[in-house]
Amino acid sequence: MRRTLIDARPVRGLSPGGMAAPLRVGGSDAPLIDSFGRRVSYLRVSITDRCDLRCTYCMPERMTFLPKDDVLSFEELDRIVSLFAQFGVDKLRVTGGEPLVRRDVMALMRRFARHIEAGALRELTLTTNGTLLERYAAELADIGVKRINVSLDTLDRGLFEKIARRDRLEVVLAGIAAAAKAGLKVKINTVAMKGVNDAELPSLIAWAHGQGHDMTLIETMPMGEAETDRVGDYLSLSQAREELRNRWTLTDIAHSTGGPARYVRVEETGGRLGFITPLSHNFCESCNRVRLTCTGRLYTCLGREDGADLRAAVREHADDERLETLVRAAIGAKPRGHDFDASRLAIPASPRTMSHTGG
Ligand code: SAM
Ligand code: SF4
Repeated sequence: MRRTLIDARPVRGLSPGGMAAPLRVGGSDAPLIDSFGRRVSYLRVSITDRCDLRCTYCMPERMTFLPKDDVLSFEELDRIVSLFAQFGVDKLRVTGGEPLVRRDVMALMRRFARHIEAGALRELTLTTNGTLLERYAAELADIGVKRINVSLDTLDRGLFEKIARRDRLEVVLAGIAAAAKAGLKVKINTVAMKGVNDAELPSLIAWAHGQGHDMTLIETMPMGEAETDRVGDYLSLSQAREELRNRWTLTDIAHSTGGPARYVRVEETGGRLGFITPLSHNFCESCNRVRLTCTGRLYTCLGREDGADLRAAVREHADDERLETLVRAAIGAKPRGHDFDASRLAIPASPRTMSHTGG
Protein backbone atom coordinates (compact mmCIF):
# COMPACT_ATOMS: atom_id res chain seq x y z
CA MET A 1 0.00 0.00 0.00
CA ARG A 2 1.35 3.47 -0.86
CA ARG A 3 1.69 5.78 2.11
CA THR A 4 0.67 9.36 1.92
CA LEU A 5 2.32 12.48 3.27
CA ILE A 6 2.10 12.94 7.03
CA ASP A 7 1.28 9.34 7.45
CA ALA A 8 2.35 8.54 10.95
CA ARG A 9 0.67 5.20 11.37
CA PRO A 10 2.99 2.71 13.03
CA VAL A 11 5.20 1.28 10.34
CA ARG A 12 6.40 -2.25 10.16
CA GLY A 13 9.48 -2.64 8.05
CA LEU A 14 10.39 -5.44 5.74
CA SER A 15 13.85 -6.84 5.81
CA PRO A 16 15.60 -7.24 2.42
CA GLY A 17 14.34 -10.79 2.44
CA GLY A 18 10.79 -9.56 2.91
CA MET A 19 10.48 -10.53 6.60
CA ALA A 20 8.40 -8.18 8.70
CA ALA A 21 10.41 -6.42 11.39
CA PRO A 22 9.36 -3.60 13.70
CA LEU A 23 11.00 -0.25 12.98
CA ARG A 24 12.44 1.56 15.95
CA VAL A 25 10.38 4.52 17.03
CA GLY A 26 11.16 6.55 20.10
CA GLY A 27 13.75 8.84 21.55
CA SER A 28 16.85 7.21 20.18
CA ASP A 29 19.77 7.92 17.97
CA ALA A 30 19.38 4.64 16.09
CA PRO A 31 20.28 4.89 12.41
CA LEU A 32 17.60 5.41 9.80
CA ILE A 33 17.16 2.12 7.96
CA ASP A 34 14.44 1.64 5.39
CA SER A 35 12.35 -1.42 4.72
CA PHE A 36 14.81 -2.63 2.06
CA GLY A 37 17.73 -2.51 4.49
CA ARG A 38 19.21 0.68 3.04
CA ARG A 39 20.73 3.01 5.62
CA VAL A 40 19.88 6.67 5.09
CA SER A 41 23.01 8.66 5.87
CA TYR A 42 22.73 11.55 3.46
CA LEU A 43 20.34 14.51 3.58
CA ARG A 44 19.97 17.08 0.84
CA VAL A 45 18.29 20.21 2.01
CA SER A 46 16.96 22.93 -0.22
CA ILE A 47 17.13 26.22 1.64
CA THR A 48 15.36 28.37 -0.97
CA ASP A 49 13.43 27.97 -4.22
CA ARG A 50 14.78 31.29 -5.51
CA CYS A 51 17.52 31.62 -8.07
CA ASP A 52 19.39 34.28 -10.01
CA LEU A 53 19.51 32.12 -13.16
CA ARG A 54 16.67 30.57 -15.16
CA CYS A 55 18.12 27.39 -16.66
CA THR A 56 15.71 26.26 -19.33
CA TYR A 57 15.55 22.65 -18.12
CA CYS A 58 14.91 23.73 -14.56
CA MET A 59 12.42 26.58 -14.47
CA PRO A 60 10.46 28.92 -16.71
CA GLU A 61 11.57 32.52 -17.27
CA ARG A 62 8.56 33.80 -15.38
CA MET A 63 8.97 31.54 -12.42
CA THR A 64 6.50 32.01 -9.59
CA PHE A 65 8.45 31.73 -6.39
CA LEU A 66 6.92 30.67 -3.11
CA PRO A 67 5.64 33.17 -0.57
CA LYS A 68 8.43 33.73 1.97
CA ASP A 69 6.31 32.37 4.82
CA ASP A 70 6.11 29.00 3.11
CA VAL A 71 9.87 28.60 3.29
CA LEU A 72 11.43 27.17 6.44
CA SER A 73 13.11 29.69 8.72
CA PHE A 74 16.70 29.18 9.86
CA GLU A 75 15.40 27.89 13.20
CA GLU A 76 13.12 25.38 11.52
CA LEU A 77 15.82 24.21 9.13
CA ASP A 78 18.27 23.89 11.99
CA ARG A 79 15.87 21.85 14.11
CA ILE A 80 15.16 19.35 11.35
CA VAL A 81 18.80 19.06 10.25
CA SER A 82 19.89 18.55 13.86
CA LEU A 83 17.40 15.72 14.21
CA PHE A 84 18.78 13.97 11.13
CA ALA A 85 22.32 14.44 12.44
CA GLN A 86 21.21 12.75 15.65
CA PHE A 87 19.91 9.79 13.62
CA GLY A 88 23.28 9.20 12.01
CA VAL A 89 22.96 11.28 8.87
CA ASP A 90 26.59 12.27 8.44
CA LYS A 91 26.50 13.99 5.07
CA LEU A 92 24.53 17.17 4.45
CA ARG A 93 24.25 18.85 1.07
CA VAL A 94 22.79 22.33 0.96
CA THR A 95 21.08 23.18 -2.29
CA GLY A 96 18.13 25.03 -3.77
CA GLY A 97 17.12 26.97 -5.94
CA GLU A 98 20.38 28.74 -5.59
CA PRO A 99 21.41 28.35 -1.95
CA LEU A 100 23.81 31.28 -1.96
CA VAL A 101 21.05 33.78 -2.81
CA ARG A 102 19.34 33.19 0.53
CA ARG A 103 19.86 36.21 2.76
CA ASP A 104 22.42 35.59 5.51
CA VAL A 105 23.18 32.19 4.07
CA MET A 106 26.49 31.98 5.90
CA ALA A 107 24.77 32.35 9.27
CA LEU A 108 22.75 29.24 8.39
CA MET A 109 25.82 27.40 7.10
CA ARG A 110 27.61 28.17 10.36
CA ARG A 111 24.74 26.62 12.29
CA PHE A 112 25.00 23.48 10.19
CA ALA A 113 28.78 23.47 10.55
CA ARG A 114 28.60 23.06 14.31
CA HIS A 115 27.59 19.45 13.65
CA ILE A 116 30.98 18.95 12.02
CA GLU A 117 32.69 20.24 15.12
CA ALA A 118 30.48 18.01 17.27
CA GLY A 119 31.57 15.00 15.20
CA ALA A 120 28.06 14.17 13.89
CA LEU A 121 28.56 15.41 10.34
CA ARG A 122 31.38 13.98 8.30
CA GLU A 123 30.66 16.26 5.41
CA LEU A 124 28.88 19.56 4.85
CA THR A 125 28.69 20.47 1.21
CA LEU A 126 26.86 22.65 -1.28
CA THR A 127 25.52 22.58 -4.83
CA THR A 128 25.65 26.00 -6.44
CA ASN A 129 25.45 27.70 -9.81
CA GLY A 130 28.64 29.56 -8.85
CA THR A 131 27.47 33.13 -9.41
CA LEU A 132 28.09 34.12 -5.79
CA LEU A 133 31.11 31.95 -5.10
CA GLU A 134 33.57 34.77 -5.42
CA ARG A 135 31.90 36.36 -2.43
CA TYR A 136 31.51 33.23 -0.30
CA ALA A 137 34.24 30.72 -1.22
CA ALA A 138 36.72 31.71 1.48
CA GLU A 139 34.06 31.75 4.19
CA LEU A 140 32.76 28.35 3.15
CA ALA A 141 36.25 26.91 3.42
CA ASP A 142 36.65 28.63 6.78
CA ILE A 143 33.62 26.92 8.34
CA GLY A 144 34.75 23.46 7.28
CA VAL A 145 33.23 22.92 3.83
CA LYS A 146 35.76 20.83 1.92
CA ARG A 147 34.11 20.25 -1.44
CA ILE A 148 31.33 21.77 -3.50
CA ASN A 149 29.48 20.99 -6.71
CA VAL A 150 29.23 23.77 -9.27
CA SER A 151 26.81 23.47 -12.18
CA LEU A 152 28.23 24.45 -15.53
CA ASP A 153 26.83 23.28 -18.85
CA THR A 154 29.07 25.13 -21.29
CA LEU A 155 32.15 27.35 -21.61
CA ASP A 156 30.60 29.23 -24.50
CA ARG A 157 29.28 32.59 -23.36
CA GLY A 158 26.46 32.72 -25.91
CA LEU A 159 25.34 29.18 -25.17
CA PHE A 160 25.54 29.80 -21.43
CA GLU A 161 23.20 32.75 -21.84
CA LYS A 162 20.88 30.63 -23.94
CA ILE A 163 20.73 27.83 -21.37
CA ALA A 164 20.71 29.93 -18.19
CA ARG A 165 18.87 32.88 -19.75
CA ARG A 166 21.41 35.14 -18.07
CA ASP A 167 24.81 36.34 -19.30
CA ARG A 168 26.77 35.14 -16.26
CA LEU A 169 29.48 32.80 -17.54
CA GLU A 170 32.37 35.08 -16.60
CA VAL A 171 31.21 35.50 -13.02
CA VAL A 172 30.68 31.74 -12.65
CA LEU A 173 34.20 31.03 -13.92
CA ALA A 174 35.57 33.63 -11.50
CA GLY A 175 33.60 31.91 -8.73
CA ILE A 176 35.05 28.51 -9.59
CA ALA A 177 38.54 29.99 -9.56
CA ALA A 178 37.86 31.61 -6.17
CA ALA A 179 36.66 28.28 -4.79
CA ALA A 180 39.80 26.51 -5.94
CA LYS A 181 41.94 29.30 -4.50
CA ALA A 182 40.17 28.94 -1.15
CA GLY A 183 41.11 25.25 -1.14
CA LEU A 184 37.65 23.87 -1.92
CA LYS A 185 37.58 20.74 -4.05
CA VAL A 186 35.24 21.52 -6.95
CA LYS A 187 33.16 19.05 -8.92
CA ILE A 188 31.55 20.34 -12.09
CA ASN A 189 27.99 19.12 -12.77
CA THR A 190 26.86 19.27 -16.38
CA VAL A 191 23.44 18.47 -17.75
CA ALA A 192 24.13 16.77 -21.09
CA MET A 193 21.67 17.85 -23.78
CA LYS A 194 21.44 16.53 -27.29
CA GLY A 195 21.99 19.22 -29.91
CA VAL A 196 22.70 21.78 -27.18
CA ASN A 197 26.03 21.03 -25.48
CA ASP A 198 26.77 17.44 -26.52
CA ALA A 199 29.40 18.47 -29.09
CA GLU A 200 31.20 20.49 -26.40
CA LEU A 201 31.33 17.75 -23.78
CA PRO A 202 34.87 16.54 -24.60
CA SER A 203 36.34 20.06 -24.40
CA LEU A 204 34.37 20.80 -21.23
CA ILE A 205 35.67 17.59 -19.63
CA ALA A 206 39.23 18.38 -20.75
CA TRP A 207 38.92 21.90 -19.30
CA ALA A 208 37.53 20.67 -15.96
CA HIS A 209 40.18 17.98 -15.59
CA GLY A 210 42.87 20.44 -16.65
CA GLN A 211 41.79 22.67 -13.75
CA GLY A 212 41.92 19.71 -11.37
CA HIS A 213 38.11 19.38 -11.04
CA ASP A 214 36.15 16.15 -11.21
CA MET A 215 33.15 16.26 -13.47
CA THR A 216 29.76 14.57 -13.56
CA LEU A 217 27.39 14.39 -16.49
CA ILE A 218 23.67 14.35 -15.71
CA GLU A 219 20.75 13.21 -17.83
CA THR A 220 17.75 15.51 -18.08
CA MET A 221 15.13 14.50 -15.56
CA PRO A 222 11.39 15.05 -15.91
CA MET A 223 11.02 17.33 -12.91
CA GLY A 224 8.39 20.05 -12.99
CA GLU A 225 7.16 22.06 -15.91
CA ALA A 226 9.99 23.58 -17.92
CA GLU A 227 9.92 25.32 -21.25
CA THR A 228 12.34 22.99 -22.99
CA ASP A 229 11.85 20.08 -25.27
CA ARG A 230 12.93 17.37 -22.86
CA VAL A 231 12.35 14.60 -25.36
CA GLY A 232 14.41 16.33 -28.04
CA ASP A 233 17.13 17.38 -25.56
CA TYR A 234 17.40 13.99 -23.88
CA LEU A 235 20.80 12.47 -24.39
CA SER A 236 21.30 8.97 -23.08
CA LEU A 237 24.59 8.97 -21.22
CA SER A 238 25.18 5.38 -22.30
CA GLN A 239 25.46 6.80 -25.79
CA ALA A 240 27.59 9.76 -24.66
CA ARG A 241 29.89 7.36 -22.85
CA GLU A 242 30.37 5.26 -25.97
CA GLU A 243 31.27 8.37 -27.95
CA LEU A 244 33.78 9.42 -25.30
CA ARG A 245 35.26 5.91 -25.42
CA ASN A 246 36.10 6.43 -29.09
CA ARG A 247 38.21 9.41 -28.07
CA TRP A 248 39.64 8.43 -24.69
CA THR A 249 40.46 5.45 -22.51
CA LEU A 250 37.82 5.27 -19.79
CA THR A 251 38.64 2.98 -16.88
CA ASP A 252 35.81 2.04 -14.49
CA ILE A 253 36.67 2.95 -10.92
CA ALA A 254 35.07 1.87 -7.69
CA HIS A 255 34.60 5.43 -6.39
CA SER A 256 31.06 5.76 -5.08
CA THR A 257 29.13 8.30 -3.07
CA GLY A 258 26.32 5.82 -2.48
CA GLY A 259 24.39 7.79 -5.04
CA PRO A 260 23.44 7.57 -8.67
CA ALA A 261 26.82 8.46 -10.18
CA ARG A 262 29.06 5.81 -11.69
CA TYR A 263 32.65 6.90 -12.21
CA VAL A 264 35.44 6.35 -14.69
CA ARG A 265 38.97 7.67 -14.89
CA VAL A 266 39.85 9.37 -18.16
CA GLU A 267 43.39 8.07 -18.59
CA GLU A 268 44.45 10.84 -21.01
CA THR A 269 43.40 13.69 -18.68
CA GLY A 270 43.94 11.86 -15.38
CA GLY A 271 40.58 13.18 -14.15
CA ARG A 272 37.48 11.50 -12.77
CA LEU A 273 34.23 11.53 -14.73
CA GLY A 274 30.84 10.54 -13.32
CA PHE A 275 27.62 9.63 -15.08
CA ILE A 276 24.26 10.17 -13.40
CA THR A 277 21.83 8.07 -15.35
CA PRO A 278 18.44 7.96 -13.68
CA LEU A 279 16.72 7.23 -16.98
CA SER A 280 18.96 4.81 -18.80
CA HIS A 281 19.96 2.96 -15.61
CA ASN A 282 18.17 2.56 -12.37
CA PHE A 283 20.42 3.23 -9.39
CA CYS A 284 17.99 2.92 -6.53
CA GLU A 285 19.23 -0.27 -4.89
CA SER A 286 22.11 1.57 -3.23
CA CYS A 287 20.23 4.81 -2.50
CA ASN A 288 21.31 6.28 0.83
CA ARG A 289 19.65 9.69 0.62
CA VAL A 290 16.52 11.67 1.29
CA ARG A 291 15.60 15.26 0.46
CA LEU A 292 14.07 18.08 2.43
CA THR A 293 12.45 20.84 0.39
CA CYS A 294 12.62 24.46 1.39
CA THR A 295 8.99 24.10 2.50
CA GLY A 296 9.84 21.30 4.88
CA ARG A 297 8.53 18.34 2.93
CA LEU A 298 10.69 15.30 3.32
CA TYR A 299 10.87 13.31 0.10
CA THR A 300 12.31 9.85 0.38
CA CYS A 301 12.67 9.37 -3.38
CA LEU A 302 13.44 12.01 -6.02
CA GLY A 303 10.77 10.89 -8.44
CA ARG A 304 7.96 10.02 -6.05
CA GLU A 305 5.65 11.76 -3.65
CA ASP A 306 6.29 9.59 -0.59
CA GLY A 307 7.51 11.41 2.48
CA ALA A 308 6.32 13.57 5.33
CA ASP A 309 5.33 17.16 5.95
CA LEU A 310 7.82 18.17 8.62
CA ARG A 311 6.97 21.88 8.38
CA ALA A 312 3.41 21.25 9.52
CA ALA A 313 4.71 19.28 12.47
CA VAL A 314 7.34 21.86 13.39
CA ARG A 315 4.84 24.71 13.12
CA GLU A 316 2.35 22.81 15.25
CA HIS A 317 5.07 22.72 17.92
CA ALA A 318 5.49 18.98 17.70
CA ASP A 319 7.89 17.65 20.29
CA ASP A 320 11.03 15.76 19.24
CA GLU A 321 9.38 12.39 19.73
CA ARG A 322 6.55 13.26 17.35
CA LEU A 323 9.05 14.52 14.77
CA GLU A 324 11.09 11.38 15.15
CA THR A 325 8.00 9.23 14.63
CA LEU A 326 7.21 11.10 11.43
CA VAL A 327 10.75 10.81 10.12
CA ARG A 328 11.10 7.11 10.92
CA ALA A 329 7.68 6.34 9.43
CA ALA A 330 8.64 8.13 6.22
CA ILE A 331 12.00 6.36 6.02
CA GLY A 332 10.29 3.05 6.71
CA ALA A 333 8.08 3.65 3.68
CA LYS A 334 10.90 4.82 1.37
CA PRO A 335 10.01 3.36 -2.03
CA ARG A 336 12.16 0.71 -3.61
CA GLY A 337 12.87 3.07 -6.52
CA HIS A 338 11.65 5.76 -8.85
CA ASP A 339 9.95 5.15 -12.16
CA PHE A 340 11.50 7.75 -14.43
CA ASP A 341 11.42 6.52 -17.98
CA ALA A 342 12.94 8.12 -21.10
CA SER A 343 9.81 7.35 -23.11
CA ARG A 344 7.76 9.50 -20.75
CA LEU A 345 10.03 12.55 -20.56
CA ALA A 346 7.43 14.90 -21.97
CA ILE A 347 5.22 14.31 -18.95
CA PRO A 348 6.83 15.36 -15.68
CA ALA A 349 7.22 12.30 -13.44
CA SER A 350 6.98 14.77 -10.63
CA PRO A 351 5.23 18.13 -10.63
CA ARG A 352 8.02 19.50 -8.45
CA THR A 353 10.82 21.39 -10.16
CA MET A 354 14.35 20.49 -9.21
CA SER A 355 14.74 23.99 -7.76
CA HIS A 356 11.95 23.26 -5.31
CA THR A 357 13.02 19.76 -4.38
CA GLY A 358 16.72 20.49 -4.33
CA GLY A 359 18.88 18.83 -6.95
N1 SAM B 1 21.19 26.26 -8.28
C1 SAM B 1 22.11 25.25 -7.95
C2 SAM B 1 22.76 24.68 -9.18
O1 SAM B 1 22.32 24.95 -10.29
O2 SAM B 1 23.74 23.95 -9.00
C3 SAM B 1 21.54 24.12 -7.10
C4 SAM B 1 20.18 23.62 -7.44
S1 SAM B 1 20.02 22.88 -9.04
C5 SAM B 1 18.32 22.45 -9.01
C6 SAM B 1 20.89 21.36 -8.80
C7 SAM B 1 21.26 20.60 -10.04
O3 SAM B 1 20.09 20.14 -10.66
C8 SAM B 1 22.01 21.41 -11.09
O4 SAM B 1 23.22 20.73 -11.39
C9 SAM B 1 21.10 21.42 -12.27
O5 SAM B 1 21.81 21.40 -13.46
C10 SAM B 1 20.28 20.17 -12.06
N2 SAM B 1 18.96 20.17 -12.68
C11 SAM B 1 17.97 21.07 -12.59
N3 SAM B 1 16.88 20.68 -13.29
C12 SAM B 1 17.20 19.49 -13.84
C13 SAM B 1 16.51 18.57 -14.68
N4 SAM B 1 15.25 18.77 -15.05
N5 SAM B 1 17.17 17.45 -15.06
C14 SAM B 1 18.44 17.20 -14.66
N6 SAM B 1 19.13 18.02 -13.87
C15 SAM B 1 18.53 19.15 -13.47
FE1 SF4 C 1 18.85 28.02 -10.80
FE2 SF4 C 1 20.21 25.77 -10.43
FE3 SF4 C 1 17.75 25.72 -11.52
FE4 SF4 C 1 19.74 26.75 -12.92
S1 SF4 C 1 19.57 24.61 -12.23
S2 SF4 C 1 17.72 27.67 -12.65
S3 SF4 C 1 20.98 27.65 -11.37
S4 SF4 C 1 18.25 26.31 -9.47
